[in-house]
Amino acid sequence: MKLINKGIHHITAIVGDPQENVDFYTEVLGLRMVKKTVNFDAPETYHLYFGNEQGAPGTVITFFPWEDAKKGKIGSGQVGVTAYAVPEGTLQFWKERLAKFHVKAVVESRFGKKYVSFQDPHGLKIEITEEKSGDFSKWSIGGITEENAIKGFAGAMLYSREPQKTGDLLEKLFGFERIGEDQDLLRYKSTADLGSTIDLKKSPMDSGTRGVGTVHHIAFRTSDEQEQLAWKKLLEEKGYQVTEVRDRNYFKSIYFNEKGGILFEIATEGPGFDRDEPLKTMGSELKLPKQFESIREKIEKKLPSIEIKEPKNQH
Ligand code: ZN
Repeated sequence: MKLINKGIHHITAIVGDPQENVDFYTEVLGLRMVKKTVNFDAPETYHLYFGNEQGAPGTVITFFPWEDAKKGKIGSGQVGVTAYAVPEGTLQFWKERLAKFHVKAVVESRFGKKYVSFQDPHGLKIEITEEKSGDFSKWSIGGITEENAIKGFAGAMLYSREPQKTGDLLEKLFGFERIGEDQDLLRYKSTADLGSTIDLKKSPMDSGTRGVGTVHHIAFRTSDEQEQLAWKKLLEEKGYQVTEVRDRNYFKSIYFNEKGGILFEIATEGPGFDRDEPLKTMGSELKLPKQFESIREKIEKKLPSIEIKEPKNQH
């Protein structure tokens, strides 16, 4: 079996207040909350998923909103920046939209492309850039239409403790192509339509600490469980310590620490977010995996209520 990395599946980050998290990613960025569930390893806290209409792989950002957690520090051993792809010609729309919501943004350039760079309410570094590739999003909310909506990920920037080793993994094992170098960054690209670009910072920086406003892990796509097991075998042969397959309900996952200290996951494309609720109403109810249904009442009592508000500030 020829294993080819298909780019980013999802990115998971730690944030603070869940309502602030929901407001930013739905109202400001116009994503759909495709799943309201709990952290399977800590069921009294939320795990919230945002993506395009279906929550297709390559579009999904997920959050652990930990209200009382300490602020983290972005640095080596982490995904430093998450970049979103928008249709060509819409960067101005996004600059204006962020300004309307009082989000401070700056325009930066690298590899001949422009990036609108800003932070989410909890300090996560986000960028928006124009991309030709990737399907248009069908999710339309508060002034965002199919013509300008975020399509999904453009890519991510990795801050590695061992950039050389991280680069080798991307190139030699994952099959990304190294396509360029710009100042302190190396650029790698997979063949995926979305989430295909990984920028790797060449010089290590201070170590990051996990906490609010930092990325917890980055997941890459694999087609199915059979291919996932082939990845596990290959990675183990190369000396990586890979977890057992974990059932995340909407996909299956394996995890490993790459040599630069960043937590990587390889996740299957299916079964997808409509497996436990209809596509039309996805994200509106708290969904629990089977093992937690018996304690649903207790969980619901502990979780703060969150709502998707009607977009304001649009006139
Ligand atoms: Zn994950």
